[in-house]
Amino acid sequence: MPDSPLNNPAFSAALRAVQTRIAAACAAAGRDPASVQLLAVSKTFGPEAVRVAYQAGLLAFGENYIQEAVAKMVALADLPLQWHCIGPIQSNKTRLVAEHFAWAQTVDRLKIAQRLAEQRPAHLPPLQVCLQVNVDGGPTKAGVAPEDLPALARAVRALPRLRLRGLMCIPDPQPDAAAMQAVFARALVLFDALRADWEGPDPEPDTLSMGMSADLEAAIAAGSTLVRIGSALFGARPVKPAAAAPLAGAQDG
Ligand SMILES: *Cc1c(COP(=O)(O)O)cnc(C)c1O
Repeated sequence: MPDSPLNNPAFSAALRAVQTRIAAACAAAGRDPASVQLLAVSKTFGPEAVRVAYQAGLLAFGENYIQEAVAKMVALADLPLQWHCIGPIQSNKTRLVAEHFAWAQTVDRLKIAQRLAEQRPAHLPPLQVCLQVNVDGGPTKAGVAPEDLPALARAVRALPRLRLRGLMCIPDPQPDAAAMQAVFARALVLFDALRADWEGPDPEPDTLSMGMSADLEAAIAAGSTLVRIGSALFGARPVKPAAAAPLAGAQDG
């Protein structure tokens, strides 16, 4: 493992600690731990860190910065990894997302979904999509407004080459766990409504992506099926220039 910032025993210990937190949160909520998937968020860490995580048993990785992610995928092409785009998707980046990722979790408007559908190569499986919902913020925050979600979901579902898997949210930190859980619970209401309204042959959405290192317990209590964990696994992220880190914020360890 040349020049790795991580080593296998240290990463494995961090992974066990995260798995223990997930299991405890599931036990407290009366949920099966197998109902919560762990997505390792490897943004800002190099391919060698992802390789260590893979050796510890992880296969699914989340990335925010699309060019950085594609460089990592090329360096790790020998491994059977599943890549999730969890950063903002601008129009000029949809082709890279469509061609390289298995999942796009941050789709929040139809124009982006249409471009992803057009650009998804025919030889790849459908791009797995979550709609990012703005459950707590004002009009400037990323994510579709809850009142606009049903129409967006219908339109995205009708597009070829995409499969709508569920919802994702990134609420701001709240003063305590109860307040955090209350915000996450709004996403669960929207997710349940999406599933209740679902008709037709394609499988119902099954993914509610919410919870990060600082708030995974509240997210699991509120029904999360996928937690996105960065710093609790890889350690504190190197500081990036503000302009290059649109989503790096209060959660950074
Ligand atoms: C960085 C990031 C994460 C991981 O955050 P941690 O607090 O390091 O666990 C999860 N989701 C998104 C969208 C992120 O940008």
